[in-house]
Amino acid sequence: MLSPNELHPPGQPPSQPRVPLAPLLSLSTFAAPRLPRPACVLDAGAVRLVTSGRIAIALALREMGVGAGDEVLVPAYHSMSMIPPVLSLGAHPVFYKVGADAALDLDDVASKLTAATRAIMVTSYFGIPQDLARIRAFCDLHGLLMLEDCAHCFFGEHGGRPVGSWGDYAIASSMKFFPIYEGGALVSARHALTTGRLSSAGRGFEAKAALNALERSFAYGRLPLVKALLWLPLRLKSALWNMIKRRAPAGAPALTPSSSDSSYDFDPRWLDKQSSRFSRFVVRRASHARIVAQRRANYRFLELACASLPLCRPLFAALPPGACPWLFPLVVEQPEKLFRRLHNAGVPMTRFAEALWPGVDAGVCANSVHLSRHIIAFPCHQALLPEELAWMSGAIREALTA
Ligand SMILES: *Cc1c(COP(=O)(O)O)cnc(C)c1O
Repeated sequence: MLSPNELHPPGQPPSQPRVPLAPLLSLSTFAAPRLPRPACVLDAGAVRLVTSGRIAIALALREMGVGAGDEVLVPAYHSMSMIPPVLSLGAHPVFYKVGADAALDLDDVASKLTAATRAIMVTSYFGIPQDLARIRAFCDLHGLLMLEDCAHCFFGEHGGRPVGSWGDYAIASSMKFFPIYEGGALVSARHALTTGRLSSAGRGFEAKAALNALERSFAYGRLPLVKALLWLPLRLKSALWNMIKRRAPAGAPALTPSSSDSSYDFDPRWLDKQSSRFSRFVVRRASHARIVAQRRANYRFLELACASLPLCRPLFAALPPGACPWLFPLVVEQPEKLFRRLHNAGVPMTRFAEALWPGVDAGVCANSVHLSRHIIAFPCHQALLPEELAWMSGAIREALTA
């Protein structure tokens, strides 16, 4: 979940947005607020921690027995990374419509069912759960397997149950919520997992997962004391790093998955690999209560800051109680002009689903095409500092009113 401009060769001045796009490690990551631990997808059932959400999708489909010739219903509004796992099993993605607010269109789903339909992927966008109880009832009625895509929705509940517990299987992309370099989860509340023991991807991978998270944090001035303490070890690291690479046999798999580098690639060599020790520690031990409270507060700050601005509106009329946003999605009327201005000002942004799978056009779903072009989403993660949030909302105001 790094934006390309967050990546920079070591030793060179970082050309990065002024505000971090994704969460960073800081001392408050592990703070212990006096709040009850909120529900999350890991509470839903049996869990396997893997290296990305897309690997978890492939594993979930495999658990379902999806294979050659089967059809898997996928939202027309999607991340491109969701499709290669379907194709990897020989199955066909069939795209269904969403509404103007990205709600799954059950009538359209009903019209797309065939004898070959096996499963449906249900994505809860930006952290706001879909009408999961209704979708579950529909799946039961039609004998469809439900894959709950919680990539944007690590935390929260629906109908008194944790997100992830409505699907036959659920997946999460932990990188979107925690300060980690790699991480995803396969979960099932309804079936025993046949995916067996996962193996470590090796010492180089373990080291890189931890060092990358630290370096990103240092690049934004977090953890200054740790940085000082690690100054010498990190200089030694480059040397060590080159040595590990030299010793790797030719043709060996990459040390870390491409899913961690803003790519849509799907690499099946990561199917049996466990998430790093470092990521697993952070996902389990970070303060979940603080993440949820902070993200909600930051989201509402941005919501309020944009409330009176012209040519834009938040995608969602309100943040539902208990929901934990991934980003703050703003629907804007002049996306290209605004994007250019914000980019020049150094504002971090995500344009989720900006590229849709080839063939998914307005004829397939006009709402998806509109959402993919007109939403600019801003970070609201737990590591944003008050001054960063204030600067960002000022820059958004300026770009929209200039
Ligand atoms: C990011 C994303 C995924 C895949 O997660 P990765 O961890 O990047 O592999 C799946 N679904 C949606 C909706 C996503 O945004």
